[in-house]
Amino acid sequence: MAIKSIEKMKNIAGKRIILRVDFNVPVKGGVILDDYKIRKTLPTIVYLKEKGAKLILITHLGEPTAGVFERRFSVAPLAKYLESLFKEKVKVCKTLESFETQNAVAKMKDGDIVFLENIRFEKGEKENSKDLAKKISMLGDIYVNDAFAVCHRAHASVVAIKKYLPSYTGLLLQNEIEGLEKAMKPKKPLVLIIGGAKIKTKIRIINNFKDKADRIIIGGALANDFLAAEGFEIGKSLVDIDDIKLAKKLKTEKFLLPVDVVVSTSGKKSEVRIRKLSEIEKGDTILDIGPKTIFLYAKSIRKANTIIWNGPMGKFELKDFKKGTFALAHEVGMRAKGRCVAVAGGGETVEALRMAKMDKHIDLVSTGGGAMLSYLGKEKMPGLL
Ligand code: ADP
Ligand code: MG
Repeated sequence: MAIKSIEKMKNIAGKRIILRVDFNVPVKGGVILDDYKIRKTLPTIVYLKEKGAKLILITHLGEPTAGVFERRFSVAPLAKYLESLFKEKVKVCKTLESFETQNAVAKMKDGDIVFLENIRFEKGEKENSKDLAKKISMLGDIYVNDAFAVCHRAHASVVAIKKYLPSYTGLLLQNEIEGLEKAMKPKKPLVLIIGGAKIKTKIRIINNFKDKADRIIIGGALANDFLAAEGFEIGKSLVDIDDIKLAKKLKTEKFLLPVDVVVSTSGKKSEVRIRKLSEIEKGDTILDIGPKTIFLYAKSIRKANTIIWNGPMGKFELKDFKKGTFALAHEVGMRAKGRCVAVAGGGETVEALRMAKMDKHIDLVSTGGGAMLSYLGKEKMPGLL
């Protein structure tokens, strides 16, 4: 897609800019538990602010019912966060059309920020309503989209709004697209690493890269489907009958599957054991890839010039089953430190990369799991049109 970056925008000072961000962060009791997504958007906010824009921020937060205000979904903690960061007042405007909101916007000085209340409180946001988009647009002069994580959704504050205002791309969104484009036109060898829970959500990306990739590394619960398709005993591991069929169809010689696994045994006292594939017992649950598999996967990663990673190798949230994911995080990080381009995304994948302190070496750590899968799977991205 053609990017119309905010860097190309002229005469920003004094303009009212509707900035759609994705500040959909975990909030509990008014406290932000993880500000990662917010921090990633700060370059855009600072850029526009320093150029003297009047910023009208929009985000969604959680999944409230449209038309029903619920405090736990309020953007108030997000506004507080920006207040303490910039040391200035960030007003929350509760409704779109009220006199209070009009007044707050009218009174803004250059560089000021106001926050519109959670856009998913509004009826029509998820229906891509023109009426809602029009109402939003009345508050501003220009629209900027910096919310990559929702660009695969046709929502009013992402898509319909563009009909009513000149539109630009924020720095985070620009960075995401530029990074993903590198993955779409990879320097070979290309290694695709796919893990996590279910094949169904990853089928498009696998299909799109089946020919381009030199190696497709499979881990996570998804690997169970492939192992079951090969006829191995997988005990009580997480699988899905349909996914086994899919795995059978997908597999080619490019695929690397686990050669050993880490299981949790059944019985009164469950234990953690490393098993060869031929040794897996009926009571076992596979929860990570084994050491020989790590070694095998690392060999491919060390030769890659492009790496795309989505989905952890095991149930890394438990300390006994995090080795596979952390070892690969390390391998990918070290490889990406050099000339190799690495792109990684997915809620849990990013969490693991950050826990392993490897995120800083990755060329693109995507803020959009579903959106990244859509982009790399060549699905329609209505928010990018
Ligand atoms: P992402 O959000 O990075 O795209 P997914 O949502 O597809 O990843 O999957 C992540 C989840 O998969 C993690 O919570 C992890 O615990 C789980 N998982 C990985 N391997 C296994 C396994 N062998 N058995 C059960 N769950 C697993
Ligand atoms: Mg996930």
